[in-house]
Amino acid sequence: MAPENNAPTLPDPKSDTTVPVVIVGAGPIGIETAIELQRRGVDSINIDRGPLGAQIFDFPPQSRWFSGPERISIGGVPLETVSQEKATREDYLAYLRSVVRQFDLAVRTFESVEQVTPVKDGFEVRTSTAGGLSRLIRTKRVVLAVGGTAKTRRLDVPGEDRSIVADVLGEPHRYFGRRVLVVGGKNSAAESAIRLWRAGAEVTISYRGDELHPRIKYWIRPELASCIRSGLISARFGTRVLAIGPNAVTLERLTDGVRFEEPIDDVLLQIGFEADGSMFEALGCELVGPNQAVLHDSSTMETSIPGIYVAGTAVNGTQGRYEVYIENSHVHAVRIAAAMVGDPPPPDPVLPELPEA
Ligand SMILES: Cc1cc2nc3c(=O)[nH]c(=O)nc-3n(C[C@H](O)[C@H](O)[C@H](O)COP(=O)(O)OP(=O)(O)OC[C@H]3O[C@@H](n4cnc5c(N)ncnc54)[C@H](O)[C@@H]3O)c2cc1C
Repeated sequence: MAPENNAPTLPDPKSDTTVPVVIVGAGPIGIETAIELQRRGVDSINIDRGPLGAQIFDFPPQSRWFSGPERISIGGVPLETVSQEKATREDYLAYLRSVVRQFDLAVRTFESVEQVTPVKDGFEVRTSTAGGLSRLIRTKRVVLAVGGTAKTRRLDVPGEDRSIVADVLGEPHRYFGRRVLVVGGKNSAAESAIRLWRAGAEVTISYRGDELHPRIKYWIRPELASCIRSGLISARFGTRVLAIGPNAVTLERLTDGVRFEEPIDDVLLQIGFEADGSMFEALGCELVGPNQAVLHDSSTMETSIPGIYVAGTAVNGTQGRYEVYIENSHVHAVRIAAAMVGDPPPPDPVLPELPEA
């Protein structure tokens, strides 16, 4: 194999592009924004540092959405499921691919937006590809649809960098015959615990709360509670992880500070996400409140910096409890597209009540 510094570089036809709107992010709402712009005759390009729908790509295989398909479908394109059940990760990724093809959207994946710089008459967007190319795109307007889950939360304890520590479940088969500590007590932790147990792992949960979180999906909570009651899954409620060793973790009981060792082979952190507000900050956009939500005009989605718009979950910064998600973000796409062509803002949507209160 030739050494890397002798590797060939071909001319890059995608460098130095000019496009009216750059959408950073190719998640559901970034894609929906491109569709709404296209409907109004405005060309755009979506740039994503991961694959199409990167956040959904990271869901565990075959996991199902909480929302019904009609609530997470985008651009008016029906999302049908063969089962008439809630869509799976795979259903939705296939759906996203079809939608992008149907509208022939310009989507670049594995290309990270590194910098957005205001220039005369617009912005320069600097990107870098996974292969190592640097690119420049000139544009009039930028939509930051970057989501709110850029970083997974960390425990900040010794041993967290060990290779036995993961923060994405992935394929549960990997854990067959392993003793796994699942850290966390909300939806992702609960779902992971059950799936790992079914895949033949010996599962223990460490959670700071005194009991399972009340907002765990209504079809998962009773099952997990029953697994814990019958000793199929162990739960160490009211504990926190102090250190991760090669074959054991140190837990501390929060009520009395008692420390004890829990034997493990693997640790799966399911303790939530943090947003990355650095691009907003670098542009001078105002971030407010404990979430560091992005200040914007709610009728146009334009931020405090003219020409910079925000869409989707990015609006709400780091969400401890999800208040902004796909279901209630569809209108962002329409507001942005309407504002960019000078149409009046759409009426606020009336969201259907969730069947499972
Ligand atoms: C386990 C789980 C279950 C969920 N279930 C539901 C549900 O049932 N119903 C619901 O409505 N919502 C649900 N959500 C939330 C839902 O996934 C998000 O609301 C949705 O993905 C938000 O879409 P978005 O387009 O705003 O952002 P995202 O889907 O997060 O997309 C943002 C994109 O921006 C890209 N990006 C970020 N920074 C850069 C950069 N610098 N350069 C280039 N690209 C960048 C990312 O790679 C990413 O693809 C769930 C989330 C999780 C984690």
